[in-house]
Amino acid sequence: MTDDIPFNRNLALAPGRVEEVAPCVRRMLCDNPSPFTFKGTMSYIVGRGQVAIVDPGPDNVRHTDALLDAVRGETVTHVFVTHTHRDHSPGAARITARTGAKTFGEGPHRPARPLHVGEAPRLDASNDVDFRPDHSLADGEVVSAAGFALEAIATPGHTANHMAFALRGQELVFSGDHVMGWSTSIVAPPDGAMSDYMASLDKLARRREGLYLPGHGDVIRDAPRFVQSYIRHRQGREASILHRLGKGAADIPTLVRAIYIGLDPRLVRAAGLSVLAHLEDLVARGVVATEGVPSVEGVYRLA
Ligand SMILES: [Zn+2]
Repeated sequence: MTDDIPFNRNLALAPGRVEEVAPCVRRMLCDNPSPFTFKGTMSYIVGRGQVAIVDPGPDNVRHTDALLDAVRGETVTHVFVTHTHRDHSPGAARITARTGAKTFGEGPHRPARPLHVGEAPRLDASNDVDFRPDHSLADGEVVSAAGFALEAIATPGHTANHMAFALRGQELVFSGDHVMGWSTSIVAPPDGAMSDYMASLDKLARRREGLYLPGHGDVIRDAPRFVQSYIRHRQGREASILHRLGKGAADIPTLVRAIYIGLDPRLVRAAGLSVLAHLEDLVARGVVATEGVPSVEGVYRLA
């Protein structure tokens, strides 16, 4: 299903090693590999002397120590957070406690829509509900410091508060979990929303930056073309769902079995939520019908 995206699942970087990945941008891999995080979370150090850290990573003291070792003799003034998942934002508390840096992000964690009766926040163990940015960023806001200027790009979809950050003068974007080179992004209601996600992809597709530095995996080159392949992939998945529903009403487990061939069993629940995200969007557009609000337990048919 994902042959249409030119994925890169190589990453020659050991956890805890600092590496210059672009002029004035260093990266460091956290040792938190999983089916959701690939080889781990990638943290970025932006600037020289007075620096920002983009995505400090999970609550992992070894990773925080390694990041602060890498900037010994420099001053961390800013911590930017792409979104409030536990593999990205909790490390901010350790960094700010030891440096006095200020935190920047869209806002606290929140679902993309009100919860339905009886519905729990999805994969709720993955949410960091403690993070509160010192400074809430608006879409398009530019934060300038001695060694860098970062433009906030609101990119909701993976989470409601997801932001990418464009580094002015470098033609590169820190794309967080919105666009990654090793895998598609997980869009799982109620925290994620497919209609927002697609609009955010369209927004990035209109930008010119050629290089993306994602929250997981290696750099993405030829980024506008890569974003187009992400868009086509989602359109293809939507077409697969509609094709299956064209053969008769179906529930989400049936759709997942029909569409995700050879899926890692640990990802079945996430895949179900991803299909739910498509179905919520399709129901809102009047293309698909179900009883009541779209849910994981629902039965769906073409409208
Ligand atoms: Zn992540």
